[in-house]
Amino acid sequence: MIQDIMPHRLNNHYTEKTPDGESICFYAVEGRLLMQVSDGKISYPGLIPGTQKDLIFAFELDGRDCFLYLGRKKPEELTGSLSGEGWTFENASALRALNPRYFAFAGVTALHLAAWYQSSRFCGRCGTALEHDHAERMMKCPSCGQMKYPSIAPAVIVAVTDGDRILMTKYAGRAYSRFALIAGFTEIGETAEETVAREVLEETGVRVKNIRYYRSQPWGFSQTLLLGFFCELDGSDEIHMDESELSVAEWVERGEIEHVQDGYDDISLTNEMICAFRDKIF
Ligand SMILES: [Zn+2]
Repeated sequence: MIQDIMPHRLNNHYTEKTPDGESICFYAVEGRLLMQVSDGKISYPGLIPGTQKDLIFAFELDGRDCFLYLGRKKPEELTGSLSGEGWTFENASALRALNPRYFAFAGVTALHLAAWYQSSRFCGRCGTALEHDHAERMMKCPSCGQMKYPSIAPAVIVAVTDGDRILMTKYAGRAYSRFALIAGFTEIGETAEETVAREVLEETGVRVKNIRYYRSQPWGFSQTLLLGFFCELDGSDEIHMDESELSVAEWVERGEIEHVQDGYDDISLTNEMICAFRDKIF
């Protein structure tokens, strides 16, 4: 999965630091990240002159300090002083297909952080401009004292099985057109297991039992922590699909998975779970 980058290591413990000549700098503008792409390989820039005061420490990548740009320069102002060809601003989905993988994961993580910082500029309670805390990754209000920590929304990915069949779906109205599994955000006041049962019922009309936790995945593409669960059909297998959420929902035999899914990426928890069922691993 995208976060499985060993032996590389991303350490996101926050420390107040300033960039130097060895630093990697993530310049995110309106959800797009500055990178140089050559033959499917990513490079990120170092410190761009004139931006130092707007860079905040993001994380360490293999011991190298990485910073995130929070300033207001336009893309062309940032790229104007870079040497070399091919500097471009790409959105998170472009990173799915780029290498090295640990650089792609770092980029998605940086975009998640950037989205949080960009929506955490003012206090939601009193409207005052928020300030950076010095000790931890947190924004605080100098007027009313409210503290705002990074937002991560928990969501579930659900593999519903019935013997040698698995319930596979396609999203309605999204660019992503491959088969997926049922997914949904956890509501306030709900356990992850309750989210599983509710989302399956809402999207496909079937009931489930024997809900078992599989693995989790930080999914910066949607600022989410994905929690993977397997469960079994309980009762009728008749599907009543929610057409506002899904365009396809159908039972797929284990042996047919290869035919409906045209190859697998090794990025997502969804695909790992489909493969785990196909290969009888879980
Ligand atoms: Zn406030």
